[in-house]
Amino acid sequence: MKILVINCGSSSLKYQLIDMDNESVLAKGLCERIGIEGSKLTHQPAGKDKYVIENPMPTHKTAIEMVMAALQDPEHGVIKDTSEISAIGHRVLHGGTVYSDSIVVNEDVKRVIRECFDLGPLHNPANLMGIEACEAAMPGTPNVAVFDTAFGMSMPEKAYTYAIPHEYYEKYGIRRYGFHGTSHKFVSAEAIRFGGLDPETAKVIVCHLGNGASVSASIGGKCVDTSMGLTPLEGLIMGTRSGDVDPAVLQFIMNKEGLDINQMLDILNKKSGVYGMTNGISSDFRDIENAKADGNHLAEVALDAFIYRVTKYIGAYAAAMNGVDAIAFTAGVGENDKTGRKNICSSLAFMGVEIDDEANNVRGEERVISSPNSKVKVMLIPTNEELAIARETLALV
Ligand code: AMP
Repeated sequence: MKILVINCGSSSLKYQLIDMDNESVLAKGLCERIGIEGSKLTHQPAGKDKYVIENPMPTHKTAIEMVMAALQDPEHGVIKDTSEISAIGHRVLHGGTVYSDSIVVNEDVKRVIRECFDLGPLHNPANLMGIEACEAAMPGTPNVAVFDTAFGMSMPEKAYTYAIPHEYYEKYGIRRYGFHGTSHKFVSAEAIRFGGLDPETAKVIVCHLGNGASVSASIGGKCVDTSMGLTPLEGLIMGTRSGDVDPAVLQFIMNKEGLDINQMLDILNKKSGVYGMTNGISSDFRDIENAKADGNHLAEVALDAFIYRVTKYIGAYAAAMNGVDAIAFTAGVGENDKTGRKNICSSLAFMGVEIDDEANNVRGEERVISSPNSKVKVMLIPTNEELAIARETLALV
């Protein structure tokens, strides 16, 4: 069975066609600059050369039509007919309080995605456009919505409630939702399986450390807390996002600099994090590491602060769960940065975490990186959000 996975942004569309018989990627690609001049599709069939088409893509519907044509192209394609695609799995950012699981799309599901435009203004409209484009291009093929917020829906009230007047929760659903849910769910389940832990009771902390970064705590695969909040801005220091700040900082800077709230949030989302902390060296952690190696003090502080905050969240979640059986690192930084993993684990020695330097000398490979004596199993578990979406889709169709 072949499943198409779609991840729509406001001007982009990423896709993977996965053969679920052996979970292999048949083709993947990216449509860029949808609705903007200079759109192009880059299509990568497995084992063949990359294929780039530069054609206007005024809408996501045109983009999907081009993806379908590329998938069926006599030379660069991997299928003969779209009827070979059994279902389409869509990454959807926000499901509000309604969805705690993936669901086959119908009119009700589309209504909820639309009602959540306020909560995910950049992503939900694009996600819905992707779904509607697929409905038009492949009538009758089931579409499945896989929500980034679904994993966080099992958080208890004490973890998701903000200490602000309750009426805002009642009126607008203001609470902590958490994001990267597809990755946290996939990695925590994989940590339980790979680490040989009890699937009912295992206490697992997942550190998804990439350009966007978040930590989750789960018991028996169910999320009990996670660091992102109403939006993906809360929590860790990220590439360009500030993570936690005192809200009064906003008022102070806005008054001094004459900014409105949209400009201020733009700074917190796009110009902060390690990018802002280093006066704009880069949002890419590798560049920050290189700058640190060249003796740049701000780069050193940014990396120290990033690691420090991850460590604080792990400590907090270990306390929140009254223990932790496993810590799993994933995503770009988590899978590649052995020094970061080592530094985080060194500060957790007090709870019996002991890293094995030789085992930790690894990139992007599923592995236990703690020593046999470690009281907490530390693992590197590569995330695979597309495969996770495809598995969720398969389970529903
Ligand atoms: P992601 O958002 O998961 O794709 O992760 C992207 C981030 O991972 C970028 O900031 C990269 O700089 C970072 N990254 C990739 N390789 C390394 C590495 N070897 N050391 C540190 N960071 C890395």
